[in-house]
Amino acid sequence: MHYQIPKGLFDILPYTDEPWRLTSAWQHLEKVFHKVALDYGFQEIRTPIFEHTDLFARGVGATSDIVSKEMYTFRDKGERLLSLRPEGTSSVLRAFIENNLGSYGNIHKLYYVGPMFRYDRPQAGRYRQFHQVGAEVLGVPSAEQDAEIIDMLLEFFVRLGIKNTTIYINSIGDIESREAFRKAFHSFLTPFIPKLSKESQSRLEKNPLRILDSKDPEDQALLKNAPSILDFLSPLCKDHFQKLCSSLDRIHIPYQINPKIVRGLDYYNKTVFEIASSDLGAQNALGGGGRYDDFTSLFGGPPLPGTGFSAGMERILQTMLKQNLPLPTCKPIFVFLIPLGERAKEAAFSLTTQIRHLGIPAEIDLEVKKLQTSLQRANRLHACFAIIIGDREIETKILRLKNMHQCSEEEISWEHLTPLLQNKWKESHVQRM
Ligand code: AMP
Repeated sequence: MHYQIPKGLFDILPYTDEPWRLTSAWQHLEKVFHKVALDYGFQEIRTPIFEHTDLFARGVGATSDIVSKEMYTFRDKGERLLSLRPEGTSSVLRAFIENNLGSYGNIHKLYYVGPMFRYDRPQAGRYRQFHQVGAEVLGVPSAEQDAEIIDMLLEFFVRLGIKNTTIYINSIGDIESREAFRKAFHSFLTPFIPKLSKESQSRLEKNPLRILDSKDPEDQALLKNAPSILDFLSPLCKDHFQKLCSSLDRIHIPYQINPKIVRGLDYYNKTVFEIASSDLGAQNALGGGGRYDDFTSLFGGPPLPGTGFSAGMERILQTMLKQNLPLPTCKPIFVFLIPLGERAKEAAFSLTTQIRHLGIPAEIDLEVKKLQTSLQRANRLHACFAIIIGDREIETKILRLKNMHQCSEEEISWEHLTPLLQNKWKESHVQRM
């Protein structure tokens, strides 16, 4: 039987001709994000991959595309209705409330890294299992907090070397602002209803704001003279938005105000934003987020101000590739041992074990057929040193340490090998720091 990976999924591999699927590239991204999160005062939270379906239905919104069309939902053997998580915020808030994290202080800065699942038409930059990094702040109502998370996401991209990003910001106000806008928007659209795409027609009653980010070119043409939500903001929301703009100005973050950014999830209010890359195709959003004040009360928690973002790791890696940014390959093996013959294999095996027990990455070829093939494998593992051990080395107790990068060799007695390797390993670490 020949099995294939389900549609819209992909493997992350130690070696492949598609560098964005290299494990080392993913590890690099995760490492950089962990450091950015630490620098901005965030702590990691890990929640399960599936939750009760109702959590997402309430959180993300039953009329959202994610819940109405894209969730992987199943019943377990106990007839519970469960869904693979399509996004991170709902789970983080559920965990926050359930574990009473609020009792540990007033302000909470949490981040996550992990897979998300959405049943959507697979295409470039859109997968059914994809991965997000994300951050959430609970307890801070100020606009500076929104500016901080926008800066944090941008800083993540900057540290990865990503260029040509555009930050779009908008405010979708509070319920009152949206209600005022909804009325004006509905009156504006009414004469055009027959010309709207089917999708937008169905959104008109259920979720009209989403019409603004319709991908249909004819919808977009009709929307050219549509009212802007920014003209309907309540004084409080207007003030928040102005403060956000001035905070971003103060820290020299360039942005574009785009009243068509609404985001596909129902929980946002006030600030919403997206960061896009001009090097991606139709799916050009690298990440986005916004404010979700009082979202916690929807899950039975105390009403708390909240703000956060998430970003897609696949698109980040694909942007890095487009921009010819180097993606790290696997971590090198420090020393590679090649025993020639049974006697040598026994001795080399003990030696390799000793080296590994010192915390030095070492590999041994236990199946040497041709010396050349073993050396090729050492090269593939980016080995810094190779040691070929044959009968002569066992008799003389002198080993030759081959420097694979400089193509030089040095002789060393058997008993001095491990202290020498230990020194070299330490030196190479100092150089890398
Ligand atoms: P969203 O909350 O839907 O805006 O998602 C945040 C980010 O996750 C997006 O900007 C994308 O980078 C990424 N993303 C969302 N859906 C997918 C998907 N199906 N495949 C790959 N990346 C995705």
